[in-house]
Amino acid sequence: MTAPLPPRLDLLLTGVDIVTGEPGRPELRDATLGVLAGRIAWLGDAPPPGLPVAQTLALPGRVVTPGFVNVHNHAILTMVRGVAADLGFAPSYTPGIPKGTDVTPDQARAFARLGACEMLLSGSTLVGDNFVHADVTTEAMAELGLRLAPSWRVHDVDFARVAHGEWRFDPAIGRRTLDGALALAERWRGHPRITPNIGAHAADTCSEDFLREIAAASSSLDLRVNTHLGQSEVEVERVRARTGRTSTQVFEDTGLLGPRLMGGHCIYLSDDDIARMARAGAHAIHIPKCNAASGRLAPTPKLAAAGVNIALATDTQHGDMVELMRWALATARVQRGGVDDDWQPAHVFGMATMGGARALGLADSIGSLAIGKCADFVVFDFRRPHLVPRVDLLGNLVHTAQGRDVEHVAVDGEWLVRDSRPTRIDLGRVCAEAEQAARELWGAAGRSYWEPRR
Ligand SMILES: [Zn+2]
Repeated sequence: MTAPLPPRLDLLLTGVDIVTGEPGRPELRDATLGVLAGRIAWLGDAPPPGLPVAQTLALPGRVVTPGFVNVHNHAILTMVRGVAADLGFAPSYTPGIPKGTDVTPDQARAFARLGACEMLLSGSTLVGDNFVHADVTTEAMAELGLRLAPSWRVHDVDFARVAHGEWRFDPAIGRRTLDGALALAERWRGHPRITPNIGAHAADTCSEDFLREIAAASSSLDLRVNTHLGQSEVEVERVRARTGRTSTQVFEDTGLLGPRLMGGHCIYLSDDDIARMARAGAHAIHIPKCNAASGRLAPTPKLAAAGVNIALATDTQHGDMVELMRWALATARVQRGGVDDDWQPAHVFGMATMGGARALGLADSIGSLAIGKCADFVVFDFRRPHLVPRVDLLGNLVHTAQGRDVEHVAVDGEWLVRDSRPTRIDLGRVCAEAEQAARELWGAAGRSYWEPRR
């Protein structure tokens, strides 16, 4: 590379294959990656001779990729794992299972640690998360060291009534949730790994006046708005009945549809909605596994063809971005009716990395491996039988790798995962505390924890 030579390196990986995510030089074989002061300082076949290096790790047979940017999650909803996916709809709308409004701060902390751990272990170096108790969950997830884009779940509907079919708006709820999001943003302002946003829930759970308030706050404080857009038929019908328009049109009319808007799911979008998103520079957050598990597909080929930036997220499903790339590719090909040049492993890999970085406005610092960018990277063990032979690294990564193949993860050059274990937290304790919290919560919801499935 032609970048200036660093004076020394804190860390040097040698003998690795590197998928950079950079168009000019997408792949390096049997190469070296050097880190200085948390930034990538060297990428090349071999380091310059004589360079002082604090730590050298020889990792033959491994593949290094940028950290995955997993932008739309609700880590607390690990509490409905194994159940919610079979109920047909988002947990917050579903009667008979525990709700965010039922969770105590201690339980929230336990579930958030579990969710964040799972995502980190599978290679997510940034997790966007919004839900209730964001003050304590942000703290709990930050303990792991990964990057966060957190928010409170912001809405002015009374969520306790939504599962019973009642959309009752209460300005006091709106004030409380938006104030919470803004207080969180203020508290973490300037933190090098935390980029708060406003988790505006959806166009059906936020009144138009409230959406205008959110738009004003987003613009004056330069905060992203992470929302659900075209997530369900219920949302679409509610919004149409109330406003006579689509959710996308409502976002446009209230000043939200722009480069700061991150629309989660994007299933129920008309061609006109997609054109509006593209014109506005809004981002689509594609959640293919949640969508497909509930029998739905987002029109990603149309979104991509219109020029909308697409990022990926695992949401309430297993936090494995590696597996998710496969879902993104397969669900697009199902819609295209075959394999074509527009939907190849490099495209979904770009969505899982740079797509998220762009959506969050962080494309200059994360999302690919380039000199000067943050040293956020994942080391995969490609010596395993399902990853041999290494003819096409991206092909193997997208079609056969799993999050479980992640061996090490670094953020700012700091090891957060070594040998598939988190470095900052006791994984056994995280799992035990989440299991205990789930027993309490499901018990309180009136369903025996061990009740067999009918
Ligand atoms: Zn969501």
